[in-house]
Amino acid sequence: MELPRSVVVGHDALNEVADVCKRLKLGKKCVIVADGTTMKVAGDKATELLQQARFKVKDFLITEASTDEVKNAEEFMKSKKSDFAIGIGGGRPIDVAKCSSFNIGIPFISTPTAASHDGVVSSRASLLSNGQRTSLAAQTPIAVIMDTKIIAESPFRLLAAGCGDIVSNLTAVKDWELARNLRNEAYSSYAAALAELAAKMLVENSHTIKPRLEESAWFVSKALVSSGVAMSIAGSSRPASGSEHKFSHALDRIARKPALHGEQCGVGTIMMMYLHGGNWQSVRDALLTIGAPTTGRALGVADEEVIEALIHAHEIGKERYTILGDEGLTYEAAERLAKITKVI
Ligand SMILES: [Zn+2]
Repeated sequence: MELPRSVVVGHDALNEVADVCKRLKLGKKCVIVADGTTMKVAGDKATELLQQARFKVKDFLITEASTDEVKNAEEFMKSKKSDFAIGIGGGRPIDVAKCSSFNIGIPFISTPTAASHDGVVSSRASLLSNGQRTSLAAQTPIAVIMDTKIIAESPFRLLAAGCGDIVSNLTAVKDWELARNLRNEAYSSYAAALAELAAKMLVENSHTIKPRLEESAWFVSKALVSSGVAMSIAGSSRPASGSEHKFSHALDRIARKPALHGEQCGVGTIMMMYLHGGNWQSVRDALLTIGAPTTGRALGVADEEVIEALIHAHEIGKERYTILGDEGLTYEAAERLAKITKVI
């Protein structure tokens, strides 16, 4: 199991960045990976705090999360002889920091400025390679710093998307159980229970998730950490990614203008829960209460795109067995599913 050694969640958690680095004895030379916005939101402050504590800080600003950008970051870190990296951002700077530090063999700290998906605490990264979005295995952050004040000030749409990614654990775990039962796949009860707990607590407390409320940012941040730890225990993304993620990945490829990862996964969870014979209405109600999308229209995608994504979802990551099976859905079944669950 590869777990973070330090997780700091709370008001002004960013103030602890230098202490965390010292305590973990990471060395003196660090690179902050951010984008123009997140540098202003948190990167400048982190730089100042680290410099006060006599760290040598270099900034690497990215424009996109692509394999080319990862290569550039690697070269930069090597030329500065960096001891460790700090990714500061919603998702893209963290993914670039995660992959580039992994490739050159140095640790990295994840400092999310928004809680929009569980990649901020996992070992996996989502990168653009030749225009296609791909998921890559990298390394678990050695530390995670989630400043709830900063996260609460980020656009609420991002937090609501994070809720969608957490709720998706419900169907991911059901898919995992199915794969254990039908394919004798390795299964961890602990990882499954933890992932499911995070999702169930969020569904039960959906009425407490509100814009600009720091308690909400705190709740979602802790749930994302739990999902991340569940993935670390499992040694894969299995407890947090199943058929609903396949739907989201298919939509990324098919839709002219895809929505946020967590938003699509949330909608996917409603439909996959129907296929599992579970309580899809409670998933839908929770997302509605939070203010996360529950329909194709709210995602900004066409009905036909939802149906196409459902038909092709099983083709994504074929080695991961889910309720979609090896054949997937027929057109008629996909249309019926989307209509019954009120997605279209
Ligand atoms: Zn996800």
